[in-house]
Amino acid sequence: MLKKSIIIFLITLTCTNIACQAVSRLVNAWVTTSTPTSSPSVTASPTTSYTPTYTLTTTPTPLPSATPLPPTLEELLARCPSSEEISAVDADLSLIFESDPSAGQLVCTAREGSADLTRLQERTYQAILTMRRLRFDAWLPWTNKPLYDWFVDAIDGIRFRDDIDISFCCEPKNIINIQTNNLAALKTNLWIDPQIGGGLQGLLVLLIHEARHNEDYQHTCGVNDNSLAEMGAWGVQYYFLQWLAFHSDPYFLKSSHQSPDYYREAARDEARWVRINRFCAEATITLGPPQPLP
Ligand SMILES: [Zn+2]
Repeated sequence: MLKKSIIIFLITLTCTNIACQAVSRLVNAWVTTSTPTSSPSVTASPTTSYTPTYTLTTTPTPLPSATPLPPTLEELLARCPSSEEISAVDADLSLIFESDPSAGQLVCTAREGSADLTRLQERTYQAILTMRRLRFDAWLPWTNKPLYDWFVDAIDGIRFRDDIDISFCCEPKNIINIQTNNLAALKTNLWIDPQIGGGLQGLLVLLIHEARHNEDYQHTCGVNDNSLAEMGAWGVQYYFLQWLAFHSDPYFLKSSHQSPDYYREAARDEARWVRINRFCAEATITLGPPQPLP
Protein backbone atom coordinates (compact mmCIF):
# COMPACT_ATOMS: atom_id res chain seq x y z
CA MET A 1 0.00 0.00 0.00
CA LEU A 2 2.80 2.33 0.82
CA LYS A 3 4.60 1.55 -2.46
CA LYS A 4 1.54 2.37 -4.53
CA SER A 5 1.07 5.71 -2.77
CA ILE A 6 4.65 6.68 -3.51
CA ILE A 7 4.28 5.79 -7.19
CA ILE A 8 1.13 7.92 -7.46
CA PHE A 9 2.78 10.78 -5.65
CA LEU A 10 5.86 10.69 -7.94
CA ILE A 11 3.84 10.45 -11.14
CA THR A 12 1.53 13.27 -10.11
CA LEU A 13 4.46 15.40 -9.04
CA THR A 14 6.42 14.96 -12.26
CA CYS A 15 3.64 15.07 -14.83
CA THR A 16 3.85 18.05 -17.06
CA ASN A 17 1.89 17.06 -20.17
CA ILE A 18 -1.45 15.54 -21.11
CA ALA A 19 -0.06 12.09 -21.89
CA CYS A 20 1.61 11.88 -18.60
CA GLN A 21 -1.49 12.98 -16.77
CA ALA A 22 -3.46 10.25 -18.59
CA VAL A 23 -0.96 7.67 -17.39
CA SER A 24 -1.31 9.11 -13.92
CA ARG A 25 -5.08 8.61 -13.99
CA LEU A 26 -4.71 4.99 -15.16
CA VAL A 27 -2.25 4.24 -12.39
CA ASN A 28 -4.54 5.86 -9.88
CA ALA A 29 -7.45 3.77 -11.11
CA TRP A 30 -5.33 0.61 -10.75
CA VAL A 31 -4.47 1.44 -7.22
CA THR A 32 -8.07 2.12 -6.35
CA THR A 33 -9.46 -1.07 -7.84
CA SER A 34 -6.78 -3.51 -6.81
CA THR A 35 -6.31 -2.33 -3.29
CA PRO A 36 -8.73 -3.85 -0.86
CA THR A 37 -10.42 -1.22 1.12
CA SER A 38 -10.24 -1.67 4.75
CA SER A 39 -13.54 -2.99 5.96
CA PRO A 40 -15.03 -2.08 9.27
CA SER A 41 -14.47 -4.68 11.82
CA VAL A 42 -17.42 -6.95 12.27
CA THR A 43 -18.25 -9.42 14.87
CA ALA A 44 -18.32 -12.91 13.43
CA SER A 45 -21.75 -14.29 13.56
CA PRO A 46 -22.07 -17.68 15.17
CA THR A 47 -21.97 -20.54 12.76
CA THR A 48 -25.38 -22.03 12.29
CA SER A 49 -26.02 -25.38 10.69
CA TYR A 50 -28.46 -25.50 7.79
CA THR A 51 -31.15 -28.03 7.92
CA PRO A 52 -33.08 -28.51 4.71
CA THR A 53 -36.77 -28.29 5.25
CA TYR A 54 -37.65 -30.52 2.33
CA THR A 55 -36.22 -33.49 0.57
CA LEU A 56 -35.85 -33.72 -3.10
CA THR A 57 -36.88 -36.99 -4.54
CA THR A 58 -36.72 -38.37 -8.00
CA THR A 59 -40.10 -40.06 -7.62
CA PRO A 60 -42.98 -37.91 -8.85
CA THR A 61 -45.68 -37.30 -6.31
CA PRO A 62 -48.65 -39.47 -7.26
CA LEU A 63 -51.90 -37.68 -7.97
CA PRO A 64 -54.47 -38.08 -5.24
CA SER A 65 -56.51 -41.14 -6.02
CA ALA A 66 -60.19 -40.75 -6.85
CA THR A 67 -62.64 -41.21 -3.97
CA PRO A 68 -63.63 -44.88 -3.96
CA LEU A 69 -67.25 -45.57 -4.76
CA PRO A 70 -69.38 -46.76 -1.84
CA PRO A 71 -70.16 -50.48 -1.87
CA THR A 72 -73.31 -51.69 -3.55
CA LEU A 73 -75.79 -53.96 -1.81
CA GLU A 74 -74.47 -56.87 -3.85
CA GLU A 75 -70.92 -56.17 -2.67
CA LEU A 76 -72.01 -55.88 0.96
CA LEU A 77 -73.82 -59.20 0.75
CA ALA A 78 -70.72 -60.89 -0.65
CA ARG A 79 -68.65 -60.23 2.47
CA CYS A 80 -69.14 -61.18 6.09
CA PRO A 81 -70.78 -58.65 8.40
CA SER A 82 -68.26 -57.07 10.77
CA SER A 83 -68.22 -57.80 14.49
CA GLU A 84 -69.40 -54.21 15.08
CA GLU A 85 -72.36 -54.65 12.75
CA ILE A 86 -73.29 -57.93 14.45
CA SER A 87 -73.05 -56.34 17.90
CA ALA A 88 -75.30 -53.49 16.77
CA VAL A 89 -78.01 -55.92 15.64
CA ASP A 90 -77.64 -58.02 18.81
CA ALA A 91 -78.19 -54.89 20.88
CA ASP A 92 -81.55 -54.33 19.17
CA LEU A 93 -82.92 -57.85 18.61
CA SER A 94 -82.82 -61.35 20.07
CA LEU A 95 -82.00 -63.85 17.33
CA ILE A 96 -82.83 -67.41 18.37
CA PHE A 97 -81.72 -70.19 16.01
CA GLU A 98 -83.61 -73.24 17.25
CA SER A 99 -83.30 -74.81 13.85
CA ASP A 100 -80.53 -74.22 11.34
CA PRO A 101 -80.39 -76.21 8.10
CA SER A 102 -76.90 -74.83 7.52
CA ALA A 103 -75.54 -75.94 10.91
CA GLY A 104 -72.13 -77.58 10.98
CA GLN A 105 -70.29 -75.22 8.68
CA LEU A 106 -69.14 -71.69 9.42
CA VAL A 107 -69.17 -69.19 6.57
CA CYS A 108 -67.85 -66.30 8.71
CA THR A 109 -65.51 -66.39 11.70
CA ALA A 110 -64.63 -64.16 14.64
CA ARG A 111 -60.95 -64.71 13.82
CA GLU A 112 -61.49 -62.81 10.56
CA GLY A 113 -63.23 -59.84 12.20
CA SER A 114 -66.79 -61.11 11.95
CA ALA A 115 -68.39 -63.73 14.24
CA ASP A 116 -68.64 -67.49 13.97
CA LEU A 117 -71.73 -67.70 11.77
CA THR A 118 -73.48 -70.43 9.82
CA ARG A 119 -75.02 -69.53 6.48
CA LEU A 120 -78.48 -69.00 8.03
CA GLN A 121 -77.04 -66.77 10.73
CA GLU A 122 -74.99 -64.79 8.24
CA ARG A 123 -78.00 -64.36 5.91
CA THR A 124 -80.15 -63.22 8.81
CA TYR A 125 -77.67 -60.56 9.92
CA GLN A 126 -77.29 -59.44 6.31
CA ALA A 127 -81.05 -59.14 5.89
CA ILE A 128 -81.39 -57.02 9.01
CA LEU A 129 -78.33 -54.92 8.18
CA THR A 130 -79.78 -54.28 4.74
CA MET A 131 -82.70 -52.55 6.45
CA ARG A 132 -80.15 -50.21 7.98
CA ARG A 133 -78.31 -49.64 4.72
CA LEU A 134 -81.26 -48.97 2.42
CA ARG A 135 -81.99 -45.31 1.68
CA PHE A 136 -85.22 -44.11 0.11
CA ASP A 137 -86.05 -40.73 -1.41
CA ALA A 138 -89.50 -40.74 0.22
CA TRP A 139 -90.83 -41.77 3.61
CA LEU A 140 -92.25 -45.26 3.90
CA PRO A 141 -96.08 -45.07 3.77
CA TRP A 142 -96.72 -47.01 7.01
CA THR A 143 -94.28 -45.34 9.41
CA ASN A 144 -92.51 -42.07 10.02
CA LYS A 145 -89.33 -43.91 11.03
CA PRO A 146 -86.48 -45.22 8.88
CA LEU A 147 -87.01 -48.89 7.98
CA TYR A 148 -84.53 -50.37 10.49
CA ASP A 149 -85.78 -48.19 13.35
CA TRP A 150 -89.36 -49.19 12.60
CA PHE A 151 -88.43 -52.89 12.48
CA VAL A 152 -86.53 -53.04 15.78
CA ASP A 153 -89.32 -51.04 17.45
CA ALA A 154 -92.02 -53.35 16.07
CA ILE A 155 -90.55 -56.60 17.44
CA ASP A 156 -88.10 -57.78 20.08
CA GLY A 157 -86.64 -60.76 18.26
CA ILE A 158 -86.82 -63.63 15.80
CA ARG A 159 -87.09 -67.40 16.35
CA PHE A 160 -85.93 -69.70 13.55
CA ARG A 161 -87.78 -73.03 13.65
CA ASP A 162 -88.30 -76.13 11.52
CA ASP A 163 -91.25 -77.46 13.54
CA ILE A 164 -93.81 -75.09 12.00
CA ASP A 165 -95.32 -75.09 8.51
CA ILE A 166 -95.56 -71.38 7.99
CA SER A 167 -93.92 -68.35 9.52
CA PHE A 168 -96.10 -66.35 11.88
CA CYS A 169 -96.27 -63.72 14.57
CA CYS A 170 -95.79 -64.09 17.46
CA GLU A 171 -94.64 -66.60 20.05
CA PRO A 172 -93.69 -65.60 22.64
CA LYS A 173 -94.93 -62.04 22.63
CA ASN A 174 -93.08 -59.72 20.26
CA ILE A 175 -91.00 -62.55 18.80
CA ILE A 176 -91.74 -63.45 15.17
CA ASN A 177 -91.33 -67.08 14.13
CA ILE A 178 -89.64 -67.94 10.84
CA GLN A 179 -89.79 -71.45 9.44
CA THR A 180 -86.49 -72.59 7.99
CA ASN A 181 -87.45 -75.48 5.71
CA ASN A 182 -87.39 -73.76 2.33
CA LEU A 183 -85.72 -70.40 2.63
CA ALA A 184 -84.47 -69.18 -0.75
CA ALA A 185 -81.94 -67.06 1.16
CA LEU A 186 -80.05 -70.27 1.95
CA LYS A 187 -79.78 -71.29 -1.69
CA THR A 188 -77.91 -68.25 -2.98
CA ASN A 189 -75.68 -65.44 -1.78
CA LEU A 190 -77.45 -62.97 -4.04
CA TRP A 191 -80.17 -60.47 -3.29
CA ILE A 192 -82.16 -62.19 -6.04
CA ASP A 193 -80.70 -65.09 -7.96
CA PRO A 194 -82.04 -65.19 -11.54
CA GLN A 195 -81.68 -68.98 -11.51
CA ILE A 196 -84.14 -69.48 -8.65
CA GLY A 197 -86.05 -66.20 -8.80
CA GLY A 198 -85.39 -65.44 -5.12
CA GLY A 199 -82.73 -64.73 -2.55
CA LEU A 200 -82.16 -62.51 0.44
CA GLN A 201 -84.89 -60.09 -0.61
CA GLY A 202 -87.46 -62.80 0.17
CA LEU A 203 -86.21 -63.17 3.75
CA LEU A 204 -86.21 -59.41 4.26
CA VAL A 205 -89.77 -59.13 2.94
CA LEU A 206 -90.87 -62.00 5.20
CA LEU A 207 -89.35 -60.36 8.29
CA ILE A 208 -91.10 -57.08 7.49
CA HIS A 209 -94.43 -58.83 6.85
CA GLU A 210 -94.33 -60.70 10.16
CA ALA A 211 -93.17 -57.64 12.09
CA ARG A 212 -96.22 -55.74 10.82
CA HIS A 213 -98.48 -58.38 12.34
CA ASN A 214 -97.04 -57.47 15.74
CA GLU A 215 -98.45 -53.97 15.39
CA ASP A 216 -101.97 -55.41 15.68
CA TYR A 217 -102.51 -55.99 11.99
CA GLN A 218 -103.93 -59.47 11.40
CA HIS A 219 -105.06 -60.68 7.98
CA THR A 220 -108.61 -59.62 7.26
CA CYS A 221 -109.50 -62.04 4.43
CA GLY A 222 -108.17 -65.51 5.23
CA VAL A 223 -104.44 -65.41 4.53
CA ASN A 224 -104.97 -62.20 2.56
CA ASP A 225 -106.05 -58.68 3.42
CA ASN A 226 -109.17 -56.93 2.22
CA SER A 227 -107.55 -53.78 0.97
CA LEU A 228 -104.26 -52.08 0.42
CA ALA A 229 -105.59 -49.07 2.28
CA GLU A 230 -105.83 -50.94 5.60
CA MET A 231 -102.02 -51.10 5.47
CA GLY A 232 -101.75 -54.56 7.02
CA ALA A 233 -98.91 -57.02 6.51
CA TRP A 234 -99.61 -57.36 2.78
CA GLY A 235 -99.93 -53.62 2.36
CA VAL A 236 -96.60 -53.07 4.06
CA GLN A 237 -95.03 -55.83 1.95
CA TYR A 238 -96.42 -54.24 -1.22
CA TYR A 239 -95.15 -50.80 -0.35
CA PHE A 240 -91.73 -52.03 0.71
CA LEU A 241 -91.32 -53.68 -2.71
CA GLN A 242 -92.61 -50.53 -4.42
CA TRP A 243 -90.08 -48.45 -2.50
CA LEU A 244 -87.28 -50.81 -3.51
CA ALA A 245 -88.32 -50.40 -7.15
CA PHE A 246 -89.11 -46.69 -7.31
CA HIS A 247 -87.54 -44.92 -4.33
CA SER A 248 -84.22 -46.66 -3.69
CA ASP A 249 -80.79 -45.66 -4.95
CA PRO A 250 -80.30 -47.31 -8.38
CA TYR A 251 -76.54 -47.45 -7.78
CA PHE A 252 -76.90 -49.21 -4.43
CA LEU A 253 -79.38 -51.71 -5.89
CA LYS A 254 -77.28 -52.26 -9.02
CA SER A 255 -77.13 -55.87 -10.11
CA SER A 256 -74.25 -57.57 -11.91
CA HIS A 257 -76.67 -60.24 -13.12
CA GLN A 258 -79.10 -59.86 -15.97
CA SER A 259 -79.34 -56.04 -16.22
CA PRO A 260 -78.11 -53.38 -13.75
CA ASP A 261 -81.77 -52.69 -12.90
CA TYR A 262 -82.61 -56.37 -12.44
CA TYR A 263 -83.18 -56.12 -8.66
CA ARG A 264 -85.42 -53.08 -8.95
CA GLU A 265 -87.36 -54.62 -11.82
CA ALA A 266 -87.85 -57.81 -9.82
CA ALA A 267 -89.14 -55.77 -6.85
CA ARG A 268 -91.54 -53.91 -9.12
CA ASP A 269 -92.86 -57.16 -10.59
CA GLU A 270 -93.30 -58.79 -7.19
CA ALA A 271 -95.11 -55.70 -5.92
CA ARG A 272 -97.52 -56.03 -8.85
CA TRP A 273 -98.09 -59.68 -7.98
CA VAL A 274 -98.90 -58.80 -4.37
CA ARG A 275 -101.17 -55.98 -5.52
CA ILE A 276 -103.15 -58.29 -7.81
CA ASN A 277 -103.30 -61.40 -5.61
CA ARG A 278 -103.34 -60.40 -1.93
CA PHE A 279 -106.24 -57.97 -1.57
CA CYS A 280 -109.65 -59.60 -1.64
CA ALA A 281 -111.63 -56.42 -2.24
CA GLU A 282 -109.39 -55.39 -5.10
CA ALA A 283 -109.08 -58.72 -6.90
CA THR A 284 -110.40 -57.39 -10.19
CA ILE A 285 -108.06 -54.45 -10.38
CA THR A 286 -106.25 -53.96 -13.69
CA LEU A 287 -102.79 -52.53 -13.30
CA GLY A 288 -101.80 -51.99 -16.92
CA PRO A 289 -98.20 -52.30 -18.10
CA PRO A 290 -95.39 -52.07 -15.55
CA GLN A 291 -94.41 -48.54 -14.68
CA PRO A 292 -90.95 -47.58 -16.02
CA LEU A 293 -88.27 -47.31 -13.32
CA PRO A 294 -86.81 -43.90 -12.51
ZN1 LIG B 1 -99.15 -62.75 7.31
